[in-house]
Amino acid sequence: MERATDYLVVGAGASGLAFTDSLLTESDANIILIDRRADVGGHWCDTYPFVRLHTPSAYYGFNSIPLGEDRIQESGRNAGFYEQATGAEIQAYFHQVLLERFLPSGRVTFLPRHDHLGGGAGVAQVRDLETGNIREIPVHQRVVDARYQQSAVPATHTPSFAVDPTAAFIPIGELPARFDDYRRYVVIGGGKTSADACLWLLDAGVDPDRIRWIRPREAWFNDRRQFQPLDQVGALMEGAADEAEAGAQANDVTDLFHRLESMGRFMRLDPEAEPSMYRITMLSRPEFTDLQQITGVIRHGRLRAVIPSRLAFDEAELEVADDELLIDCSAYGIAATPAVPIFSDHLITLQQIRHGSPTFNAALIASLEANREDDEERNRLAPPNPAPSKPADILMMLIYTWLAAEQWRKEPDLKRWISHSRLNLTRGGRPEKRRSTGASRARTIRNAPSPGNSEHASTGGRITVRRGKMLRPRSAVRSGVKVGHIHQRVHRRLGSDNVQ
Ligand SMILES: Cc1cc2nc3c(=O)[nH]c(=O)nc-3n(C[C@H](O)[C@H](O)[C@H](O)COP(=O)(O)OP(=O)(O)OC[C@H]3O[C@@H](n4cnc5c(N)ncnc54)[C@H](O)[C@@H]3O)c2cc1C
Repeated sequence: MERATDYLVVGAGASGLAFTDSLLTESDANIILIDRRADVGGHWCDTYPFVRLHTPSAYYGFNSIPLGEDRIQESGRNAGFYEQATGAEIQAYFHQVLLERFLPSGRVTFLPRHDHLGGGAGVAQVRDLETGNIREIPVHQRVVDARYQQSAVPATHTPSFAVDPTAAFIPIGELPARFDDYRRYVVIGGGKTSADACLWLLDAGVDPDRIRWIRPREAWFNDRRQFQPLDQVGALMEGAADEAEAGAQANDVTDLFHRLESMGRFMRLDPEAEPSMYRITMLSRPEFTDLQQITGVIRHGRLRAVIPSRLAFDEAELEVADDELLIDCSAYGIAATPAVPIFSDHLITLQQIRHGSPTFNAALIASLEANREDDEERNRLAPPNPAPSKPADILMMLIYTWLAAEQWRKEPDLKRWISHSRLNLTRGGRPEKRRSTGASRARTIRNAPSPGNSEHASTGGRITVRRGKMLRPRSAVRSGVKVGHIHQRVHRRLGSDNVQ
């Protein structure tokens, strides 16, 4: 038997790291963190070199250390919005938390290239992928599954269609190295990664007519303006108010999205096509306008095979010239896994609670683990909220976000925790003071005070946030509508088929 641990966190991506960071602060637990990969960072280890966060750095990462400086971008298509870290900056940040905080604490062990095989109550089996040796690690508290909603990226996924090895077919990450050799480009995929590939090509001076864009499904995109924190949080609240208002008036899901489109909440690249995909991805208006210059859109259903000189679709075949480069952007991103209880006997399964906030959710789950007595209570405060895939999924997604927020508001310690968390996108105003904390403070597990309480805020050397008045959605303020009422109205209007 190996050295025992309190928690074994499976997956050292952003979620597993955010959970570990929060548990380290709020308990005196020991944690072993494992990953199949050789490094921390999950999918960020393998994404394309020109990737950036889609959301602002201001509310991404960990509570203990800020990411970036909350700068406003001065140039480019996202000028005026809060800075979005590059892939390299995100990786450097992950290394910082590992090297400056986790390892010096003496309470976190990172085992790279280790695969979790399973195990029974109180023990986990892991395989060292370098040696092939299988080890059994006693786990006093729980295994934390931080891979349940793991992401798939083009560099490491297997496309859902057959690819002839002689075809000029590359994952998006190889685009900067290969693009000079070709006259035309075929971008495969209809989501955010494909939008990034198209924008990269436009920035490289490629005429929009030289790009063909295979979009098997059209997507609804959120406007980035409404996902800004701090000084710009008003637009987020405006968007939430619009959602409530449109939800109360809409006749069906299509009508809901059209109403929100006319309110500026959503965008679709082709106003003639009805999107069948919604994955909380976002664009700025300048990105949207530039992407609309690409008119060579191919919609023949799903791509089935890439054959030299031809693409085979469900509904047609398409010729491809020798001087055309095929760029794979078809990875699914976040896994649309079914909801399971987050807290169960010997297991914590990290999942989305508030939509679009993966690291906030992981940190919050760790806080509930440390500060609540039983799993019934923890699960009540952490209802899983499956990642959306199609437009109708927005209904459940919003309702679960609102219902969770309603529960949190009734818990003074949790309310404080949330208002102090730098990962909370709804926090307004600017932090008064920011310090990174390398030192973790030991707390008694399960009885640890919340990071949001006054003791923590005054003694911990943590981020202190000026507590502004919490804004309420416009329409809710106007009409005195409560979340529960909105829930019922959305139910009534849109039918119970869409709301579970
Ligand atoms: C291109 C892209 C851009 C994104 N941009 C944003 C953004 O701007 N803002 C935002 O909030 N979210 C964004 N996301 C969402 C993103 O999914 C999360 O931000 C986050 O990085 C996901 O981290 P994760 O830890 O949940 O999953 P992953 O990064 O997938 O990590 C899971 C880890 O588990 C490991 N693992 C799996 N099985 C095992 C096993 N059996 N044993 C050991 N280890 C195992 C994997 O190797 C992997 O490293 C983006 C996603 C993508 C794909």
